[in-house]
Amino acid sequence: MTPTIERVSRLHAPVHTMVAIVGGGACGMTAALMLSQLGVDCVVLERDVLPTGSTALSSGFVPAAATQAQQTQGISDSPQLFAQDIQAKAHGRASPELVQAYSEAIGPALNALAQHHGIPWQVLDTFLYPGHSVHRMHAVPEKTGAGLMMRLHNAAETAGMVVLTEAQVTTLYVNDADRILGLGFVRPDGQLEQLNCDMVLLACNGFGGNADLVSTLLPEMRDALYAGHAGNDGSAIQWGQQLGAQLADLGGYQGHGSWAVPQGALISWALMMEGAIQINALGQRFHDETQGYSEAAVHVLAQPGGVAWNVFDDRLLNFAQDFPDFCEAQAAGAVHSFADVAALAKHIGCSADALGKTLETMQEGLDPPTGRSFKRSLVAPFHTIRVTGALFHTQGGLDINVQCQVLRPNGSSFPNLLAAGGAARGVSGDAVWGYLSGNGLLSAIAGGYIAAHTAAQSAKQFASSTIRETS
Ligand SMILES: Cc1cc2nc3c(=O)[nH]c(=O)nc-3n(C[C@H](O)[C@H](O)[C@H](O)COP(=O)(O)OP(=O)(O)OC[C@H]3O[C@@H](n4cnc5c(N)ncnc54)[C@H](O)[C@@H]3O)c2cc1C
Repeated sequence: MTPTIERVSRLHAPVHTMVAIVGGGACGMTAALMLSQLGVDCVVLERDVLPTGSTALSSGFVPAAATQAQQTQGISDSPQLFAQDIQAKAHGRASPELVQAYSEAIGPALNALAQHHGIPWQVLDTFLYPGHSVHRMHAVPEKTGAGLMMRLHNAAETAGMVVLTEAQVTTLYVNDADRILGLGFVRPDGQLEQLNCDMVLLACNGFGGNADLVSTLLPEMRDALYAGHAGNDGSAIQWGQQLGAQLADLGGYQGHGSWAVPQGALISWALMMEGAIQINALGQRFHDETQGYSEAAVHVLAQPGGVAWNVFDDRLLNFAQDFPDFCEAQAAGAVHSFADVAALAKHIGCSADALGKTLETMQEGLDPPTGRSFKRSLVAPFHTIRVTGALFHTQGGLDINVQCQVLRPNGSSFPNLLAAGGAARGVSGDAVWGYLSGNGLLSAIAGGYIAAHTAAQSAKQFASSTIRETS
């Protein structure tokens, strides 16, 4: 179903809400929970039977600075330091206003979700993700995106939020002044239903699930596996294009260089940060793994067969087993173990000499071709996982200001259209290497939080009632 804009002067839908939220992932749910706190009625429209989105497929790790969870764990951090880290990874090419807004909002957002909606955050403090100066990756106790979504969903139920599932939004009804009067959404029986609203928040993520758009906008990922939610079909940018909205950072995305094949599972990059390496079919290393997992996707795809082998030892295996995702992948048969270099080389299909030399380089501490330095070498027995590079989600989208209002090319904002999370431009600039770990959920949660405050302010000007019958 192609997302469409229908120009109308009036819309008489059976139901009215102040804020209509398209998409029930981390962004949409965060916005809804904040709106409930602010006393503003809203409806979340979600195309799936259960709101899960890419959020439930993710590791659920959210970077945030100066949170209560960090304070409790004695970690000193600040939004300024976080903003510096984001821009350093993006080589200064991320929107400075959004970087500042998100790095400042994410702490209060996580605190509010904890205090008012019982989402318990803990800071992962056993390793640092590439590019982060301090421990600031927050997770729920399950340490999975599914756990995070489950908790957001339960909180929404407790708060009495209206989450309309099996409701795929296809149409925005817009008047001549570019004001959105309401939405049209399709139900499982094919019927189109309508809803009047004062504000719309597009929280329907990016275009990773739309092969044509990926092929056009991210040609290097044309043939890559997409590991995100299939429903992220680019609706937001298609509506934006029809409205004449500004799009930004379309070349930015989150790739991942450690997607286990054939199991189809994420192998945490924490392993690389703690000393694991990636080996190609020639028995060689081919990049500095500590630079980041996003650009690693491109490096891995450039190797023979588009694959690599993550290689690690017992100490790292024990470390990795702290991650539920890793344990699941291991249970699915992703991890293979070998007593020595010769057996590992046979498994990879490379020369034992070449692999032996690669491992010896680690002992010297520095690998000049890639610039990576090692604290220690790997010790037999060796463990390995065959991986490929995958596209996780797109970081380009509708251009927004720091209130998450969608912008026109001349910089003016649409009167009542907001976008956040993967639907809007992120804070990674316009290339794969600009993605700092966690920029995805940062944009979703900080963006949802900011958008809710903007919507609350504006919606109160347009309507005073809660959901009301209009016909
Ligand atoms: C394997 C994997 C691991 C990841 N790990 C991390 C991580 O640890 N940390 C991190 O920061 N990021 C991570 N990410 C990225 C992260 O998942 C996304 O950036 C984040 O979930 C985006 O949230 P969102 O709310 O914008 O979108 P989503 O969670 O995808 O939610 C969008 C929702 O909108 C719905 N929808 C779409 N179109 C419509 C429509 N027309 N009508 C109604 N509903 C619609 C979809 O069904 C979906 O439920 C990972 C991604 C993947 C794939």
